Amino acid sequence: MMKKCLMGWTPIKPIDVPKIYHYSNSMLTFKAYQAPLKHLPLIAKKVIYSYKYRIKKKFHLVEKPHYINFITTNKCNSRCVMCDIWKIYKIDDNKPKIKDELTFSNIEHFFIQNYDFLSHLKNVGLTGGEAFLRPDIADIVLLIHRLYPRIGLGIQTHGLMPELIRDRITYILKYFPNFGLAVSMDGVGDMHAKIRGISNACEKATRTIRYAKELGVKSITCGMTLTKENYHQIPEVKEYVESMGCEFSCFLAETSDYFYNSTSQYALNAQDLQKISQLLEPMDYHYFMSNLRLRIMGKRRSSLPCYAGYMQIVIDPYGNIKPCILRPQGTEGDEDVMGNIKQQSLYEILYNHKSNALRRKIEKCRCWCQCEVSTSAIIDPVDTVKWFARHSSQKKEFLKILGVKVHKI
Ligand code: SF4
Ligand code: SF4
Repeated sequence: MMKKCLMGWTPIKPIDVPKIYHYSNSMLTFKAYQAPLKHLPLIAKKVIYSYKYRIKKKFHLVEKPHYINFITTNKCNSRCVMCDIWKIYKIDDNKPKIKDELTFSNIEHFFIQNYDFLSHLKNVGLTGGEAFLRPDIADIVLLIHRLYPRIGLGIQTHGLMPELIRDRITYILKYFPNFGLAVSMDGVGDMHAKIRGISNACEKATRTIRYAKELGVKSITCGMTLTKENYHQIPEVKEYVESMGCEFSCFLAETSDYFYNSTSQYALNAQDLQKISQLLEPMDYHYFMSNLRLRIMGKRRSSLPCYAGYMQIVIDPYGNIKPCILRPQGTEGDEDVMGNIKQQSLYEILYNHKSNALRRKIEKCRCWCQCEVSTSAIIDPVDTVKWFARHSSQKKEFLKILGVKVHKI
């Protein structure tokens, strides 16, 4: 049983997981031809698996989910120019929705109820809003880690509450030393404050990174969201975060219902994109940024197959299951919501006509959003292998994409 302590429950004994959902049909068949693959090199195995996934997708057959992007809350105390999530609960009509956000028991029930169906899980990314605003975020991390000790698990944060984040990380690290962190860094000095709408934002995010480093967080990635205002700082931000021992990554600001920002005030025009592609040139060593540049320049025609709704899913703060973060967010009943975990098991949600119709609807949808592309690249490494053939010196990056010793966040 779980013992209560000051910060919630402390992991003591393994959770007694009820074997409710035994999902085995196609998996059993697959196991029969898995055996001869045992001695093949990892890359060959991964490529063979990717063809299996492609074929299944072609016939609209769902795999057990491998990746979950979990939007733990819509609460946010930043004021970013490119995202309006922080405004959600400032609108009076939306305030009652706070109480509809998933409670710790809802989340615990979901992961225990679907334990068998999630047996292929490889990664859970916890995000928001601002995930650290949930007082129970450390308990959520430890719950998932305890149930799935081998998966990659991390939190994406704006890093603007250094002491609070430090305390919550300290607690997590006691039980889960491989926990990963992604901290937003959209500029150095005043630029970060301008983009985030919070004074001393750069200093606060830097302090969060320092605390995390001191505490021993092994994997810290700093993501820069590119808008009209800040893209010229790409080289400075890269140098700054790398000087602190973090990995740098950047991506274009997205416009979608997830970010509640259908306005295009900060949209990048052709000239901006041209300049960004020049600034990204020295980052050819990085699979995502290298391909982002090629896409901007129109030199990358093909996209990765998208496994949203098949092997990767999003849970929104209210328990709705959606294929990806860029599809419209909404209440149950919206066409891009597959179902709600408070009412159905994940198996029931993914195997119904509505979800099937949605997967067919988005079949031809293609994007280059890092959250989604990075998982597609791991699931289906054919493209990554081709990229490595042209960038053979980037062995570390290649292995990372394949998921070798990497905890994606
Ligand atoms: S980008 Fe993140 S930190 Fe900024 S408002 Fe949106 S959810 Fe909050
Ligand atoms: S291509 Fe991108 S936007 Fe379209 S469904 Fe896939 S992840 Fe979502």
